[in-house]
Amino acid sequence: MSRVYNFGAGPSTIPLEVLEEAQKYLVDFHGNGMSIMEASHRSKMYDEVHNSAIESIRELYKVPQNFDILFLQGGASTQFAMVPLNLAMGGKVQYVDTGAWSAKAIKEAKIQGLDVEVVASSKDSSYDQIPSNIEFSDDADYTYITSNNTIYGTQFKEFPKTKAPLVVDASSDIFSYPIDWDRVDLLFAGAQKNAGLSGVTIVIINKDLLDRVKDSVPTMFRYKTHAEKDSLFNTPPTFGIYILDLVLKWIKSKGGVEAVAKNNEKKAAMLYDAIDNSDGFYTGHAKKDSRSLMNVSFNIKDGDSELESKLVNLATKVGMIGLKGHRSIGGLRASIYNAMSLEGVEALVELMDKFAKENK
Ligand code: PMP
Repeated sequence: MSRVYNFGAGPSTIPLEVLEEAQKYLVDFHGNGMSIMEASHRSKMYDEVHNSAIESIRELYKVPQNFDILFLQGGASTQFAMVPLNLAMGGKVQYVDTGAWSAKAIKEAKIQGLDVEVVASSKDSSYDQIPSNIEFSDDADYTYITSNNTIYGTQFKEFPKTKAPLVVDASSDIFSYPIDWDRVDLLFAGAQKNAGLSGVTIVIINKDLLDRVKDSVPTMFRYKTHAEKDSLFNTPPTFGIYILDLVLKWIKSKGGVEAVAKNNEKKAAMLYDAIDNSDGFYTGHAKKDSRSLMNVSFNIKDGDSELESKLVNLATKVGMIGLKGHRSIGGLRASIYNAMSLEGVEALVELMDKFAKENK
């Protein structure tokens, strides 16, 4: 078997151990005579998986007991609407604009006719940094950040301290470093980058926020509905939750979120060193103090698209895929989520060094 190194932004690489475990039990799930895919979401067989995933998140991510852990559907994009639907109370809501995904979230809040304030933005410098002048008001209904900007490759190094509840879109860096839950009230993420398959959205919410929702909000769009039924109000994405459970077990086997975070720092440093030591052949999109440990976006000779395509094609030929940058900024992007191995990053760095020497 030959597997590629998948540097795609998401869906993205999944630990081989997880895929092999899922394969082993795909047809007959631990002697149950059927696949987990075929099991009722009300069965004991599924219930164990469901509860194990919730408990593993609580343990590995050190989620306090006053938070509920929910599995929803509709992707992270549905959260852009659900957050204001559930948390807005008629006052102002405040956002930091750090890229396309923040902008989409802001748009959804505006659609709901809310008083939306963008307190800081890095749009004017093509989202190359996390703004330093973030000032949230104490009396906002909620405040909102995108912890990691998948396209531009920027990441908050520390969450802002806020009096108002802080909402974090952690779609592209969930489970990649420990969270200070004193600073966060709602964290959400689509699972398809660091947590398994598309189709599951993880929402971790402070229970205090559940009662804010207005009577006019439809049942399925209320966090409270799902919290009260342990995410079994309707049929959850059972196979995705099973894979999530396996991914969490894999994180545990690697020493937990703290150990995975250390490894992520090491991988990112290797790539950024390759960029910084290339005599300007490669240039990183993000300012140094805002660099993402998950998505490394860079250009060649300040945007030589011919050379950039040449490297993407060369990489593909030798088994490294998904390196083309997002269409909105071009260049290259290496997504190095938890499941990307050190060996994968080493192989990419080696190719980049060689390519730089040959094309200076
Ligand atoms: N937020 C961020 C930071 C993302 O990277 C993405 C997807 N790339 C989304 C939200 C949207 O996720 P989904 O496709 O699950 O709606």
